[in-house]
Amino acid sequence: MQEIKVTLTKNPKKKPADESKLGFGSIFTDHMFVMNYDEGQGWHDPRIVPYGPIELDPAAMCLHYGQEVFEGMKAYKTADGRALLFRPEKNMARLNRSNERLCIPLVDEAFCVEALKKLVGIEKDWIPTAEGTSLYLRPFIFAVDPQVGVHPAKHLMFLIICSPVGAYYPEGLNPVKIYVEKNYVRAVRGGLGFAKTAANYAASLKAQDEAEEQSYTQVLWLDGVERRYIEEVGTMNVFFRIGDEIVTPALQGSILPGITRMSCIELLRSWGYQVTERKLAIDELYEAYQKGQLKEAFGSGTAAVISPIGQLKWGDEIMMINNGEIGEVSQKLYDNLTGIQWGKLPDTMGWTVEVK
Ligand SMILES: *Cc1c(COP(=O)(O)O)cnc(C)c1O
Repeated sequence: MQEIKVTLTKNPKKKPADESKLGFGSIFTDHMFVMNYDEGQGWHDPRIVPYGPIELDPAAMCLHYGQEVFEGMKAYKTADGRALLFRPEKNMARLNRSNERLCIPLVDEAFCVEALKKLVGIEKDWIPTAEGTSLYLRPFIFAVDPQVGVHPAKHLMFLIICSPVGAYYPEGLNPVKIYVEKNYVRAVRGGLGFAKTAANYAASLKAQDEAEEQSYTQVLWLDGVERRYIEEVGTMNVFFRIGDEIVTPALQGSILPGITRMSCIELLRSWGYQVTERKLAIDELYEAYQKGQLKEAFGSGTAAVISPIGQLKWGDEIMMINNGEIGEVSQKLYDNLTGIQWGKLPDTMGWTVEVK
């Protein structure tokens, strides 16, 4: 494995004093991981350096054609002061699946996990300790060739930055209001939907903006072809409890394969629930609702872990789910996932990785 050169900052920043005001993603730690890719050399010069601006040529390809991929994960501080990562090897495997789709040279996944652990080890004191807080980790890769011709890049950079983030639910797990998006789509099969790449977020901003204007938290995305099958909720995967079955849309190319989604499915099955990954049409969901069979709905993702859906609006129809309250499955998943992540429950699944 390549050696990671470390240059520590001479001007450490003050850590946020009030952890209840952290918010999300606007404070960054003292150091970042960087490595470069140059054709002929491969990925080289892995290093940890003081956090700061990077120099880019104005023609850098990422700025023009969006050849970029990223990951999102967290480091958690346990009550006894240990630092834990949650399934980091899954993030790096997904990073490579995104890389493959975006014509970005693959990374050595095991090496990237080591790089992440080394960086988090150095920034350990930046992991906040208040209930529900964590250190958000953002690995990302972008094309830097100074070239406005459209080609896959020959020169790229891989960075990891870290941001202490607040509790997602400072006032407890609150069900959200969602509407079913009819005008815009996020992704199509054959496109980029399964890759964690900037373009998917650019495509989603307009719908998100309009949802917020109407006091909805996020939108429920339907498939881009028939505008009928449920895909995701905002930037989360989505689950429905219909009768005795828990249904989540099958991954078929346009849906992001969430690690929280995968973990929910594995936990639910280990508890004996019937989980089905399949196509789920919005009209089927509405029918189930009318028959009183739609018992719970929730989103899943690293940021919120579990986000219960209390209300779903589809055209003129309003579906009130579980009286707008948290369902028992949503609560159980939330308690168990957060319990494992913050080291409050035994990690029976072997999902956490300690950073020493
Ligand atoms: C990152 C992401 C998710 C959630 O993935 P996790 O690995 O669970 O955090 C879901 N949908 C989209 C569009 C995403 O970008």
